[in-house]
Amino acid sequence: MLFITPLKNTLLGETFPQFSLIAGPCSIESYENFRQIAQEVKLRGATALRGGIFKMRTHAETFQGLGAEGIAIAKKVKEEVGLPFVSEITDPRQVDLLSEVVDVFQVGSRNMHNYELLKELGKTQKPILLKRGLAAYLDEFLAAAEYISNAGNPRVILCERGIRTFERSTRNTLDLSAVPYLQKRSGLPVIVDPSHGTGLRELVSPMCWAATAAGADGIMVEVHPKPAQALSDGPQALTFEDLQNMVPKLHRILHAIKNNLSTKETE
Ligand code: PEP
Ligand code: MN
Repeated sequence: MLFITPLKNTLLGETFPQFSLIAGPCSIESYENFRQIAQEVKLRGATALRGGIFKMRTHAETFQGLGAEGIAIAKKVKEEVGLPFVSEITDPRQVDLLSEVVDVFQVGSRNMHNYELLKELGKTQKPILLKRGLAAYLDEFLAAAEYISNAGNPRVILCERGIRTFERSTRNTLDLSAVPYLQKRSGLPVIVDPSHGTGLRELVSPMCWAATAAGADGIMVEVHPKPAQALSDGPQALTFEDLQNMVPKLHRILHAIKNNLSTKETE
């Protein structure tokens, strides 16, 4: 088994490693399901855990997340498994509630332009994982990040998650040129989310490798034990086996490009 050992990142402090492998379900569905996923992704080298509590779904009649119940589950699982936890905030009124459990606030693609939310998060000191808007220019993305830093919180992580183009074969078009562009322009860490970037399980691992080769500071992937039964985003979820198969090559790419990684290999 390969492990990616977290390194301290001067910008993000001890909770976040230099190269981050963030993994977990799209949505927290139940205690048992989330605990199993957390344990399995940790075993496969994840450095942080994700899991949606408040969801921004396209259709109002679909699963909207467990809300307060999800917070209680996340707290318990985090304590048991011991990984930093990333979850999306969809409304400034959730800041206090979510602060109890998240180490990193995620701002979803649909909220990249929600400047009041960004300003509110600028008043906190937790890292903010800001996703690129569905149709945002890179310079608009950087301008959105400035709302957070100008309000007092410089700990922003940018996340490329695909944009809407004429191409319909994939859910979005993953723009990997965003990685070096944003890094050079901002000096901020840039991570890539190939799950939303492609929407198709079989494309997720290759895009994880490509993003890492492009110099990304981390990747975020959705994982589910039974993707066909997932309450959201099943078609793009990796199984535990997929994750297991993805990580060794990720590791080899990090070695090849010498991304300042401290690594430890065990059998
Ligand atoms: C998510 O991370 O589950 C999510 C909803 O992502 P995005 O905002 O990129 O669509
Ligand atoms: Mn999702």
